[in-house]
Amino acid sequence: MRYYAQPLSQLIGQLSKLPGVGPKTAQRLAFHILEMDQDEAKVLAKSISEIKEKLSYCSICNNLTQNDPCYICSDDRRDKNLICVIEEVKDIIAMEKTGEYKGLYHVLHGAISPIDGVGPEDIKIKELLSRLDDETSEVILATDPNVEGEATAMYISKLLKPLGIKVTRIAHGLPVGGDLEYADEVTLSKALEGRREI
Ligand SMILES: [Zn+2]
Repeated sequence: MRYYAQPLSQLIGQLSKLPGVGPKTAQRLAFHILEMDQDEAKVLAKSISEIKEKLSYCSICNNLTQNDPCYICSDDRRDKNLICVIEEVKDIIAMEKTGEYKGLYHVLHGAISPIDGVGPEDIKIKELLSRLDDETSEVILATDPNVEGEATAMYISKLLKPLGIKVTRIAHGLPVGGDLEYADEVTLSKALEGRREI
């Protein structure tokens, strides 16, 4: 990169820090940006600085938002007594796309993973507990169907059940086109548990 003029090598250096971007891709992206017209490049630069300046986390559900509370928490048509617990902000988008869910969310920002040194206190479980009251009708645990997601769901359900709150776990089906024998046991047992009459 020392062959390039300093501003260009600096951009390549910054881009190569992004996930999935190696030095060659960073170089290609930097040259692409260099070839953009001035206005286009300014919009790109502005978008990058604005996501840091204008976005924060919703004080109720921890969703990424420009206004606090977020558009979901401040929507009067939604059932405020129903809370769906998910791991990441992008899971909200996945759930919203189904068009089925009309309650609120709670973003944990991770899952319990002893191997990675992530304990219950490192994710937003405390914040979930402080949101719940007598009005809460149900907490749906929609953490990922993997070891960490299952451990997190188990942990939360053990905390909530003594409080008399209805706790449910979404059923996970087998992937379409997946082979039963290759499914891991967690997926399989969950699929079995969530079975329904046809
Ligand atoms: Zn919110």
